[in-house]
Amino acid sequence: MSRRFVSSKLQHPQIIHSLPVLARRLAQWRARRERIGLVPTMGALHAGHLALVKRTQRRADRVIVSIFVNPTQFAPSEDLNAYPRTFAADVAALAHVGADLVWAPSAETMYPQGFAIRVVPEGAASVGLEDAFRPHFFAGVATVVAKLFIQCDADVAAFGEKDYQQLKVVTQMARDLDLKTRIIAVPTVRERDGLALSSRNAYLSDSERTTAPALHRVLVECADKIVRGHAIGDALTEGRAVLAQAGFAVDYLEARNADTLSPAVSAKEGPLRLLVAARLGKTRLIDNIAV
Ligand code: AMP
Repeated sequence: MSRRFVSSKLQHPQIIHSLPVLARRLAQWRARRERIGLVPTMGALHAGHLALVKRTQRRADRVIVSIFVNPTQFAPSEDLNAYPRTFAADVAALAHVGADLVWAPSAETMYPQGFAIRVVPEGAASVGLEDAFRPHFFAGVATVVAKLFIQCDADVAAFGEKDYQQLKVVTQMARDLDLKTRIIAVPTVRERDGLALSSRNAYLSDSERTTAPALHRVLVECADKIVRGHAIGDALTEGRAVLAQAGFAVDYLEARNADTLSPAVSAKEGPLRLLVAARLGKTRLIDNIAV
C-alpha cells in the first residue's frame, strides 16, 4: 500500500466507546500540542453535519465527531427509540471528510449508575420557543454538551444555526461555566428547494416532503415583508396562515432579537431572527433565518 494511499482522506476515523481509551488518544494529541475540535451529533449524518466537520477542521488539528443519541433530551412521548441510527454509514461519511475520531459512548458510559447532575440553562433557554414545547430539552442538551466538552477536552466545538436556540444556549453555557471550548456557528445547509437538512426529514412521506419546503419559503416571505416595512405582527400572522393552509400544525412562528431571543416588536431594535417550528403529520420540523 503506498504512503499516499495511507495518508489519503479515506482513512477511517478511529472509533472509541470508552473514556480511558479516549483519554489516552487525547493525551497523545496534546503531547504534540494539537488543537482539538468537537462536533457533537446524534448520528444519522447528512451534509449539514459534514459542513460542521469541515468548518471545525479549519480551527483545529484534530476533529472528534461524537455520535450519541442523548436520552435525556427526549420526552417520554418523543421519538428516542425511532430516532434514525445509521452508524456504519456515518463512519463512512466521516472517512470521506477526514474526521479523526468518532466518540460513541454508550448511555451507561455517559450516565453511569448514580448519575445525579443536571445543567439547567436559563436565558435563551427560557424564552418561549423550543422550551415551551420541549420543557426538558435544553437541560438535557446542556448537560450532555458540557460532558462532551470536558470528555473531549475540546478547544472548539461546532454547532449549526439550524438549531438556533440551541446554539445560543450552548454558547452561553460555555461562557457561564468558564469552559475553555469556543463555539463555532455554522450556517444551515439546505436542499435545493430550501428545506433545511435534518435527520428527521427521513420521516416525511413523499407528499409531506413536497410540502416541507414551504417552511423556509414562508420564513423568506416574512423576512422580506419586514424588511420592506410591514408590521412584524401582520407578517407573522400571514405566515402562520400560509403554513396552516399548506397542512402544517404550527407550534410557533416568531420574530426575536437575534442575540437574546427576546420578543421583537420592531426591526429597529437590532438584528432580528425569524424562528419557526411546525408539525407535518408526525414529523416536527424547525427552521430559522436572519432578517
Ligand atoms: P443533531 O445530530 O441533529 O443533534 O445535530 C448535530 C449538529 O448538527 C447540531 O449542531 C445541529 O445544529 C447541526 N445541524 C443539523 N442540521 C444542520 C443543517 N442542515 N445545517 C447545518 N447544521 C446542522
